[in-house]
Amino acid sequence: MTDQHLADLADLAPLDLPEAGEAEAWRSFLSRRVEGELATARAQADALRVLAAGDAAALERWNDLHVALGNAFAVSSLLAQVHPDQQLRESAERFEQELHAFQTGLMLDVEVFGRLESVPREGLDEALAPGATRVLDDALRAFRRSGVDRDDATRERLATLSARDSDLSQAFGRNIRDGATSTRVPASALAGLPEDYVAEHPAADDGTVAISTAYPDMGPFLMFSADAAARREVMTTYLNLGWPANDEVLGELLAVRDETARTLGYDGWPDYDAELKMIGSGSAIAEFVDRVAADAADSAQRDLAVMLERARHDDPGVERLTVADSRYLGEVVRREQFEVDGQAVRGYFDFAKVRRGLLDVTARLFGLTYTDVAEAPTWHDEVAAYDVTLDDTGERLGRIYLDLHPREGKYNHAAQFDLVSGVGQRQLPEGVLVCNFGRGRMEHSEVVTLFHEFGHLLHHVLAGRHPWARFSGVATEWDFVEAPSQMLEEWAWDHSVLATFATNADGEPIPAALVERMRAAEEFGQGIYAATQMYYAAISYRFHAELPDDLTARSAALSQQYAVWERLPDTHFHCGFGHLSGYTSGYYTYMWSLVIAKDLFSAFDADDLFAPEVARRYRDTVLAAGGSADAADLVEAFLGRPYDNRAFTAWLES
Ligand SMILES: [Zn+2]
Repeated sequence: MTDQHLADLADLAPLDLPEAGEAEAWRSFLSRRVEGELATARAQADALRVLAAGDAAALERWNDLHVALGNAFAVSSLLAQVHPDQQLRESAERFEQELHAFQTGLMLDVEVFGRLESVPREGLDEALAPGATRVLDDALRAFRRSGVDRDDATRERLATLSARDSDLSQAFGRNIRDGATSTRVPASALAGLPEDYVAEHPAADDGTVAISTAYPDMGPFLMFSADAAARREVMTTYLNLGWPANDEVLGELLAVRDETARTLGYDGWPDYDAELKMIGSGSAIAEFVDRVAADAADSAQRDLAVMLERARHDDPGVERLTVADSRYLGEVVRREQFEVDGQAVRGYFDFAKVRRGLLDVTARLFGLTYTDVAEAPTWHDEVAAYDVTLDDTGERLGRIYLDLHPREGKYNHAAQFDLVSGVGQRQLPEGVLVCNFGRGRMEHSEVVTLFHEFGHLLHHVLAGRHPWARFSGVATEWDFVEAPSQMLEEWAWDHSVLATFATNADGEPIPAALVERMRAAEEFGQGIYAATQMYYAAISYRFHAELPDDLTARSAALSQQYAVWERLPDTHFHCGFGHLSGYTSGYYTYMWSLVIAKDLFSAFDADDLFAPEVARRYRDTVLAAGGSADAADLVEAFLGRPYDNRAFTAWLES
């Protein structure tokens, strides 16, 4: 990595963690770390306030404040999700709330804002460090977006709206969680389900079994039950989660967001929210959704026809397929027409070999070495720590932790967490992969997930040498964040890559023909997938842009317009669509990232995914840059042209 912005990390050491199992030592480590860093952040804010107007040192104090605040947030957010000691997890959560409160107050602090605003932009990069102007502009924009420069009454109203937004968002999520329920279906509907599933669902005296709305319960049922009427009932229950309570909650939430955005001078919430993203404006979301929907239409209709024909095999009277048929028929078609047997595939993915393989593949690809630091203490004995060094120079880039198996009280999805964000000449980046894989065989989809999440981890470590905390790690626009990870998934679909670690009990590598069939099966239904995603994206955008009076009616109309599946009557999908609280109007982002991921991947040689030159250039141009430039510029620097949707469209139509 030759970028002039990247400072030396040579003599920096990773955090010294307590030994696993020493709960008391961990509690005092957490308190010391959070309280110490928060005290530093407060001290930097105080120091900033007393600077003379126009003193460029304000930006350095701002950076120091963010290094400290970031450190406090990282350790509490991580330990709240992964530490085995419940008491420690709870105190980490309380620290998180305290940090949020400090941050909210800071962003409405007129004095801090004033000192930063008075810093002259001219010559700033030369006087401080390259990127200073970008950091200043970003800070001032964040302050203005929180309303710091408004009159007292407006700031008070904005604070009220912000608090109301957070209450309503919490209520929205709580109504979905608390609304979890089950549906009683005839025991005969379990024919075709795995034995262990059937055993866990004993029939009651009336001959029925209960299927809950929890994913591990509902998912296999919708995938394997041949009983169309039972699937329909289970799906109907699911599509009424949060109904009717959330209809009103969501209506008010949309109004609160709209008022917030308009108070700040924006033409509605989607424009406000999109301002910080690559897409830039609300109207661009509408255009993107419609373009992807149009591109996906042919492939979606083609695959739908295949599924309809297969459904008529069992029941000649079927006229239209509903969302209750989608997973079942998708699975049947993949099994019958693509001959992909999930059990056989599993036989090639032994966890220990996959983990070793992932490290070998990414080390080779990006010119890195991972050194097992077996003696490094962590929060649990199953967590492995590795130091990451750059082969070109031998220098240490950071430390990664792999926490990959489930345990009680641990975060139950897959995500990358920061332990420390890297800052040049100050602190080494340390990142953590938190997943929940079994300790034996893995599904291929889990292998793909592991590669995906590892992409975030590499981004965090490789972009850890900037002097500005704002640029460190995955500090890029929200609608670009997934692209590097989505691209790394491609390596988990390549036979020559898989053959390096996917071997069965006899040591035979996975056959090329099987990987070929797996890829073909995966491609089946991707137009339908894209159309469905655009239906969700349309709800997320249209609801926030239009504030419809009747959310159910608007949702039904959007279903008619975008979704491939016939809508089930008397259902209220929007009430259980939890992403509306976090993604707000931006559910399109995952697909947006995928467009760029496909374009990035087009620069690689599909016949030689290990070709070193392109991978190193990608590492240095896109990943190592972190948030130091706009994502579109990073992608253009790598591709040698602006990104476009040709590779994505070709993929959709394949
Ligand atoms: Zn991701």
